[in-house]
Amino acid sequence: MDFSVVELDDDLAAFVAEVREFIATYVTEEVHEEERRTGGSFNLRLHEALGAKGWIVPHWPVEKGGAGLDRLRQRILELELERVDAPTITLSTTRLVLSAVEKYAEPGLAAELLSKVARGDVRFCLGYTEPDGGSDIAAAKTRAVRDGDEWIVNGQKIFTTGAQNCQYTFLIARTDPDLPKHKGLTMFLMPLDAPGVEISPIHTVGGERTNVVYYGDVRVSDRYRLGPVNGGWGVLRGPLDEEHFGAGHDDGLSDLGIGASWARLQGRNVGAAVRWARTTRRPDGLRPIDDPVVRARLGEAALDVEAALATPGPMGRVRVSETLIEGSAALIDLIGPQALLPHGADGCLEGGAFDYAHRYAQGTAIYGGTTEVFRNIIAQHVLGLPRPRYPGAKTLIAGNTRTS
Ligand SMILES: Cc1cc2nc3c(=O)[nH]c(=O)nc-3n(C[C@H](O)[C@H](O)[C@H](O)COP(=O)(O)OP(=O)(O)OC[C@H]3O[C@@H](n4cnc5c(N)ncnc54)[C@H](O)[C@@H]3O)c2cc1C
Repeated sequence: MDFSVVELDDDLAAFVAEVREFIATYVTEEVHEEERRTGGSFNLRLHEALGAKGWIVPHWPVEKGGAGLDRLRQRILELELERVDAPTITLSTTRLVLSAVEKYAEPGLAAELLSKVARGDVRFCLGYTEPDGGSDIAAAKTRAVRDGDEWIVNGQKIFTTGAQNCQYTFLIARTDPDLPKHKGLTMFLMPLDAPGVEISPIHTVGGERTNVVYYGDVRVSDRYRLGPVNGGWGVLRGPLDEEHFGAGHDDGLSDLGIGASWARLQGRNVGAAVRWARTTRRPDGLRPIDDPVVRARLGEAALDVEAALATPGPMGRVRVSETLIEGSAALIDLIGPQALLPHGADGCLEGGAFDYAHRYAQGTAIYGGTTEVFRNIIAQHVLGLPRPRYPGAKTLIAGNTRTS
């Protein structure tokens, strides 16, 4: 593991200054206010400004609409945006889908969309989860039936985050119900303005806005199919693996584990709690920081953040989520009722950061795969344990099918 510090030369320092100036212009208090009000984790002006800089796909060459940034500059950009809580969920989902569009969209469609994505005019969301269950994506029931050069889509997706701000959803649909479940699926880039698509908001306890999306006899041209008919699972694997295992950079700059930004959020709140402990006076005249028990608990919280950040791969994903869930509750317990006051309430601390983190933390154990699903991934892909056999599950043995 490489713990060395990256030295910033003059060029890199100038890049940091450029990013901070950009942030001061585009990630304003109004943007945060909009985010608290809508929970959409998206701001059009910011997204378009990122596009104008080539920072939506920053590693792409300038001719393609990117900024030709090297890994170090990409990482600086990513961390600076994260540090100020820039609303970027739609940026992330768009980037996840991009590689599948590049690889599988028919050349005309790819040529049309990729430059628009880089500019910020076209955005993608993820249409995987259905009301009957999201962990088993391959069990999707949303149906697509071929009709000449078109497909007719009927079904319902839930938790399609960002659908209200995107032009297309990366939709998994069942195209052959008679094939084994992983083999009868096809991926589409479904235009969200097609007649028959209805987007209905859901608001989470964490203040996030996500959606139910209904598809009623929606006609989509075969042009929007990504990859082979009934070969959707192979198309989905790339974006799904990136969510489960990361982008695969092994350059000492990337996070070791998935979801490390959640641990950094907790790290910022530990810093906020230290500020509280240094600046508050208790009735006995002492500051909380003068109390060895408070110091020990703050130290433990800081250590948990470091341990979470140092936990690699899918193990890190479980660790960071638990660190945020347990750690945000621990900070509220340490500080007391004032930490429960939301942003804007009289007497709230640090702009309501403790209340927000505690509510936001709960979803981190769910989206992008639950922590239970990640434990399965660790068991099978890291530890090499066999797949669990549930009662009623089918076991394939040569030339035969047995029910265990
Ligand atoms: C705020 C938010 C945003 C989201 N954004 C998106 C999005 O943009 N696009 C999208 O498609 N989805 C999105 N999701 C959905 C998310 O990916 C699913 O909620 C998640 O995968 C779990 O699916 P589920 O809720 O249907 O639970 P289920 O799959 O029904 O699981 C229910 C419970 O059973 C457990 N479980 C299920 N299978 C197993 C197993 N094999 N082993 C052990 N335990 C198991 C789960 O851990 C969970 O506790 C979002 C969810 C939330 C809350």
